[in-house]
Order: sequence, then structure tokens, then C-alpha cells
Amino acid sequence: MARSRLQHTIARSVAVAGRGYWSGADVRVEFRPADAGTGVVFVRDDLSAAPRIPALIAYRQTAMRRTILGAAGATVDMVEHVLAALFGLGIDNCEVGVTAAEMPGCDGSAIDFVDALDEAGIVPLAEQTEPLVVTRPVRCGDATKWIEARPPIGDGLSIEYRLDYGAGTVIGTQWHVVEVTPKAFRLGLAAARTFVLKAEADALVAQGLGAHVSPQELLIFGDQGPIDNELRYENECVRHKILDVVGDLALAGRPLVGHIVACRSGHRLNGDLVETLLAIADEQSFQRKSA
Ligand SMILES: [Zn+2]
Repeated sequence: MARSRLQHTIARSVAVAGRGYWSGADVRVEFRPADAGTGVVFVRDDLSAAPRIPALIAYRQTAMRRTILGAAGATVDMVEHVLAALFGLGIDNCEVGVTAAEMPGCDGSAIDFVDALDEAGIVPLAEQTEPLVVTRPVRCGDATKWIEARPPIGDGLSIEYRLDYGAGTVIGTQWHVVEVTPKAFRLGLAAARTFVLKAEADALVAQGLGAHVSPQELLIFGDQGPIDNELRYENECVRHKILDVVGDLALAGRPLVGHIVACRSGHRLNGDLVETLLAIADEQSFQRKSA
């Protein structure tokens, strides 16, 4: 099939250690090589049965501001930046062993995961991928927040994002489009950090969440811009939103070929789009088989 490529994994195991934003718990994430056809699978190394949780949309649980996956009585939390790193670099098969439920927040971006995976080395396997190709426009959301998949512009995945905090606000409106190749991902998306408004951060702390998180571990925007921090890109916020879309699209479990346009969408809507695209692909393959 056109646009297929060889599946990839990593050459050796490599680890990233840190602390969860929400839980504050110390955690170690070990990326391990996996055979073709395995996909990305989390393994809770800290639990006696070492339950395995596939990184697929079918295992998604509803959560605020982040993505949680659950299977076999266990969960993994804040998986989106880990998945973005793997998907962005074109790593199809990987076992991700973790020592706690929540992934490390690191600096709020995916750069630590990308650096570790690059250090491990990315290697081809003998089998081909089965990309999910968008054949007609599909939209999820409402008039104010939506995400749409369109047929591809080039050979792979491209993502366009429209961020809108309102004209004249500290974040304002930002627009960005990128063709998601491993190179473009490393250069333009991997280091873009999570951001919150100071008021949102204060509200989370009041709920007992993230009290240990410092302004160096993500971007906290006050009225004048980031507090005790500097932007890595002038439009870092919209780049981070694209990074999040990449991590959510990874839950398709196969490479995606299409053009994605998102307007103020978040993890829930992004995941809904993946579900819809997979349902359409299933229907089409059923029709082909019965034709
Ligand atoms: Zn994010």
C-alpha cells in the first residue's frame, strides 16, 4: 500500500526519571525495544502482576487536561508527551516500563523523552506499517472548539492549529502549521512546553494539585508573559498544542496520513477524532472485504 514504510523500534533500553506533576510521585520510565506488531505498550513494573496497558484509544479514560489509559485493573497517567515523542520520531513498537502511574512532567515538554530515544537509537524492523489514510473530511467538536481530519496534502501527516485566548491577552491568538516528520518534530515541537495562566495555576493549587511544581517545570503566564521563565519559541503555546495533538493521534496505534486542522481543541476532542477515523477505516475495510 502506498505511504507504508518499515516499522521501527529502538536499538536498546533507555530510561528517563522524574516526578509527576499531579501526584508529585517519583517515577522512572524505561523505553524498551519491542517486536514488529507490538505497538506501544505501557507496563506497570511497580505492580506485582506487571499489567500491560496498550497505548490505544480503546483504553482511554476521561480526565481533565491530560490523557489517562487503563487496562487490566491499572492505569497510566499524563501519557501524552511520552506518546508524542514516540509517534513524532516514527517509533511504532516500544515497551514503556513505568514505576508509578503518572509519567514524569520533566520541563513540560517532550524533549527529555526525545533525547533519550535518540540516544537509544531508532532502528527499522522487517515488517511494514499499515497507515491510517484520511480519505474524506471528518470533524469532531462544536462551533467554538473543533478538530478536523482532511485528506493528506503531502505523503504524511501535517497539523495546523489555531489557538485563541482572545486578542490583546498575554497568550492571544497563535496559528502554526507543521509537516510532522521526525526532523520537524525534533526541531519545532519536542521542546515546546505545557502552559497555564497564573489564575488557572492558582486554582489548581487551591484544589491541592501541583503545589510542588515550580515555574521552571512548565510555562506559567502572568499578565506580562511567562513568570520566571523565557519562551523557547515566540509561539511556543501553539506549538505545544500541536505536540499534544501528536500524542493524542498516537492512540490510533498506526501512522496517520492526512492533514489535521484543530481550533482550540484539547485531549478529549483529539481522542474523539481518532475514534471516528478508526471507525471509518473499519467500515471501509469491511466494505472492501464484502465487495
Ligand atoms: Zn501537553
